[in-house]
Amino acid sequence: MASTADPASTPSAWQRVAARRADLGGGFGIARALPTSGRRTVGAWCFLDHAGPVRFPPGRGMQVGPHPHIGLQTFTWMVEGEVLHRDSLGNQQVIRPGEVNLMSAGRGIAHSEESVGDSGAVHAAQLWIALPDAQRHGDPAFVHHAALPVAQAGGFRATVLAGAALGAVSPVQLFSELVGVDLAAPGAARTHVALEPRFEHALVCLRGTARVDGAPLEPGSLLYAAPGRIGVELACDAAAQLLLIGGTPFDEPLLMWWNFVGRSADEIERAAADWNAGRRFGEVPGTPLARIAAPDAGGLKLKARPPAKG
Ligand code: MN
Repeated sequence: MASTADPASTPSAWQRVAARRADLGGGFGIARALPTSGRRTVGAWCFLDHAGPVRFPPGRGMQVGPHPHIGLQTFTWMVEGEVLHRDSLGNQQVIRPGEVNLMSAGRGIAHSEESVGDSGAVHAAQLWIALPDAQRHGDPAFVHHAALPVAQAGGFRATVLAGAALGAVSPVQLFSELVGVDLAAPGAARTHVALEPRFEHALVCLRGTARVDGAPLEPGSLLYAAPGRIGVELACDAAAQLLLIGGTPFDEPLLMWWNFVGRSADEIERAAADWNAGRRFGEVPGTPLARIAAPDAGGLKLKARPPAKG
């Protein structure tokens, strides 16, 4: 006899995963939603820090000196504040709310980030996208997107950051099938967002309190759903902001250590040694900040994690 609860038509449930809170110094708090012991990746999204909100005293702010990356794209989305990016390709770019900085590390790039402007405010989402094997040894690149497509959805202003959603397509160049949408509401709002059933998805709340298919979501945790969902109901009773990410489950093993995404301990150790010896990554021109040395990677016993199942 056929069951009324046909597994094929039951959408994947949302699973709540706590973010890891950390203080980066000077009261600069972050909530690391990816990776955590409960969830390593969502599609090729392999890192998600919710930074701030914090207001630094005048003349101070976020100051991250030159440091290297390999094997990933950094994806910066500002909620509040202004940050100056400089990199070893010679780019200098201020990023403001509503804009995206996408830096593709490929085989190696170095950059610095420093608060600018008068407000002292820093509130941002910093994400990394793991590059597939075919692209991860490629040339480094940096692209600033000053405007992303926006859709209005039931009181939410939805900015399509990556991939396609709500009838809009982001211009951000990706190497895996991904989606990223910021949904900000100045007050009560409610909408249905269609989801790609081949994707796994996650939601974090950047501001206020929201409801995801009826379940409350506040800053500090992530809701994850395995592939199979065709949509999600998002709502809030007062001002709130949500970040929706998703993608096809990343099917390559990953080894993440410090600012590197690779596949083997040997490769990571070489990247750390190259940075500390001043090889491969170049220098970041114009920055007043001191370069950040890689921690000792000697004898890294880490092994690449196999792709997550389910
Ligand atoms: Mn960085």
